[in-house]
Amino acid sequence: MKTISTIQKFRKWRKGITGSIGFVPTMGALHEGHLALVAESNKTCKNTVVSIYLNPAQFAQCEDLTTYPKTIEADLEKLTNFRVDCIFLPNDSEMYPDGFSTRIQENNLSCLLEGKSRPEFFSGVTTIVAKLFNIVEPTHAFFGEKDAQQLRIVQKLVKDLNYPIHIISCPIIREENGLARSSRNDYLTEAEHKIASNINKALQNGKKLLISGEHNSQIIKDEITQIIGAEKLLRIDYISVADSHTLVEISGKIEQDILVSVAVYLKDTRLIDNFSYSISSSR
Ligand code: AMP
Repeated sequence: MKTISTIQKFRKWRKGITGSIGFVPTMGALHEGHLALVAESNKTCKNTVVSIYLNPAQFAQCEDLTTYPKTIEADLEKLTNFRVDCIFLPNDSEMYPDGFSTRIQENNLSCLLEGKSRPEFFSGVTTIVAKLFNIVEPTHAFFGEKDAQQLRIVQKLVKDLNYPIHIISCPIIREENGLARSSRNDYLTEAEHKIASNINKALQNGKKLLISGEHNSQIIKDEITQIIGAEKLLRIDYISVADSHTLVEISGKIEQDILVSVAVYLKDTRLIDNFSYSISSSR
């Protein structure tokens, strides 16, 4: 398992690599969700590259960049359980040298949902993902459905900018209590983990309603709102029932495939979760 910190050295290493290259970009504080992406890359590709880079461009001033968990030794240890050919570990001056002044901006999906609450977030994501794709030159890249909007925006980036990369989506990995795994779960106490598990319980109840034939988007949202709202420590940022492809909010009857997504604060910790539902396959 090789560790490389500079773009120049990475490119030199990359020149000697043949066959498919699976790429798993991460911000570190690795957990089962990240490791499932690495496992999927191992299954799909001859080579696997993991990047660990806490990207400042996707954090607003008021957000948690300085407190974001940093566990690099433990991360490297966890990766030894997989076939990782190279770990790319750049620092800020490598990725954003003095004078850096370019942003990659997707202008449609990025304005909705997470983009409304975090206006700078997705241009930070697309800028770093584009840079990493240019450096790593993978044949495949693996992204989690946990960040469903991010996944769609990366798919759009690849299409719009003609990257010859297959984007592979991987299912959400959860704690035993159903809480979606996240590096930010490290901020929570044991009692708070339990409280946060109500977010997924609410989504599951919404899904049950859909399966039972309830296709009114407001009723689905009300069900989810009620369950999350019953927990005093949880504060809803948004609850959305949106078209799965355009991410445009649906009012009234649901007649297409949907993404049901939520963002909820537990004290200062912002948690997101979602599920997709196919109306066409339920008919
Ligand atoms: P991050 O380090 O948070 O930027 O995440 C790196 C990648 O891991 C992204 O593609 C995420 O969607 C994915 N990921 C994070 N948490 C999970 C999870 N619980 N299940 C599946 N994928 C995840």
